[in-house]
Amino acid sequence: LASTSEVYGNPKESPQSESYHGYVNPVGPRSCYDEGKRVAETLCLDYQRIHNLDIRIMRIFNTYGPRMKPNDGRVVSNFIYQALQKKSLTIYGDGLQTRSFCYVDDLIDGMINLMNSNINSPVNIGNPQEITILELAKKIREKINPNLEIVFKPLPQDDPLKRQPDITKAKRYLDWEPKISLDNGLDKTISWFKNL
Ligand code: UDP
Repeated sequence: LASTSEVYGNPKESPQSESYHGYVNPVGPRSCYDEGKRVAETLCLDYQRIHNLDIRIMRIFNTYGPRMKPNDGRVVSNFIYQALQKKSLTIYGDGLQTRSFCYVDDLIDGMINLMNSNINSPVNIGNPQEITILELAKKIREKINPNLEIVFKPLPQDDPLKRQPDITKAKRYLDWEPKISLDNGLDKTISWFKNL
């Protein structure tokens, strides 16, 4: 199951380990995604308990890299696309919310290790290198065009304030941790978007 860090909602604990049960609004605009993934995990575990189904559950944290859609609204692709088009970078809220971005190749390695393991409970896969959205905007602007403006827009409802994976379990049981730094991964992603 390709699950998500969204199962932790707007977490009261940071970093988030698999044993944290999350803090999720069941009736907000993001709830169909958060609760959908949570019930998917529930169903996987029930099938395992009742039918002995062999399962793997990966909780995917924010991931980025080449071949993202330029206009799907996610922050890394938005900032890169905006900067390449010489537009202002749009920050939602004050930009002090954090995320932790994992380069796609690292994520795929983690996914393969998980599939080849016998761990049938949820495992966080993500990069623990945490950054504020404001810092991310400045970093991407610096790499593409330092003269661009940063503009602030309203924060969407239930936008999580913090998100950082505790990857102790993946390190211990999958012998996995990310290898590609945010700077290195952004450079690869930016050059792919430039060709696009
Ligand atoms: N965000 C932003 N500007 C954008 C797109 C997103 O400031 O143009 C913020 C968004 O509000 C959130 C963070 O960046 O706090 C990550 O957003 P994304 O949709 O990429 O991932 P998610 O919220 O699911 O972690």
